[in-house]
Amino acid sequence: MSLTLTVDGDRWRSHLRSVAEASPGLVPVVKGNGYGLTLGRLARRSEWLGVDTIAVGTYTELPEVARRFSGSLVVLTPWRPFVDDLDPTLAARVIHTLGRIEDVEALLARDPRARFVLELRTSMVRHGFLARGLWEAADRLRRHPGARLEGLALHLPLGQGSHLGEVRRLLNDAVAAGLDGLDTIWVSHLVGAELDWLRAAYADFTIRPRIGTALWLGDRSALRVTSTVLDVHRVDRGDVFGYRGRQAPRAGHLLIVSGGTAHGIGLESPTGESSLKARAATLARGGLDAAGFVRSPFSVDAKLRLFAEPPHMQASMLFVPRGTRVPEVGAQIDVRVRYTATSFDRIVVT
Ligand SMILES: *Cc1c(COP(=O)(O)O)cnc(C)c1O
Repeated sequence: MSLTLTVDGDRWRSHLRSVAEASPGLVPVVKGNGYGLTLGRLARRSEWLGVDTIAVGTYTELPEVARRFSGSLVVLTPWRPFVDDLDPTLAARVIHTLGRIEDVEALLARDPRARFVLELRTSMVRHGFLARGLWEAADRLRRHPGARLEGLALHLPLGQGSHLGEVRRLLNDAVAAGLDGLDTIWVSHLVGAELDWLRAAYADFTIRPRIGTALWLGDRSALRVTSTVLDVHRVDRGDVFGYRGRQAPRAGHLLIVSGGTAHGIGLESPTGESSLKARAATLARGGLDAAGFVRSPFSVDAKLRLFAEPPHMQASMLFVPRGTRVPEVGAQIDVRVRYTATSFDRIVVT
């Protein structure tokens, strides 16, 4: 009776190992819903992978991972003075991210031995120092001999051409700021050849790639998401059903299947095939969308089916026209999900 994620354990673990081998200095990113796999599981896997550091998204995620992973814990969201004090047993393991000069002062006032990275503002324009701020930071840090600068951090936009011009410009500015003890660069969203270039161009530095999606979800063939068919009802054209008293646009079946808004189903259209062209094609094919039916991420008889009405909290109602092979109650059907926005009832690692 559930929305289930089944992980092919051998395949998944061998993918994780191959990413780790190809990415020296790997920092697994363990945040949010754990990419659908849960934070606890990813923390344990990181320990098994043998890395010395993982990255969480927020301070509130620390307790969940700290019990299962024994190394250092980078917090990706920049530290601010309104962040609660750390559990003292964690303080020595946490690496803060700093992106403003006032936060450098405030953090070191609270913990003179704090470990931290300085984030550079990239074309993402999310957080971080511009070059001028780094010069100031370098100056302040000289007055804090106990502070532990763990490196520079760059969060780059996804894909779209080479990042190298930008990285070179940012790093040259940063190195010129004269930060004492600077020896590590933490980066995200650089691909193989870009990382090779970075390692060669900045050979004096340790490069630490922070990877989430390409690590945990990089081999989709190891992952399968299924929903349980809970009920099947035959309907004729004009039959009324659902919360909103809709009418069946033609003869077929209503399927009630596991997975609803509480799991993250249907909040957003799943990836792919959502282009105007694809939608125009479905409209031309059947007229069901014209009746107000929206495509669902559930497949029945090898096709994505339409929601008969918007997803309910824990189940969804699908309409399949007559002529479709209808699964039996208890059968498992495939579902396409956005892993980072889905919570599963069950995760089975085979
Ligand atoms: C989420 C995040 C990552 C990892 O991103 P993926 O696309 O999942 O690999 C890396 N760096 C920062 C700062 C992040 O917030």
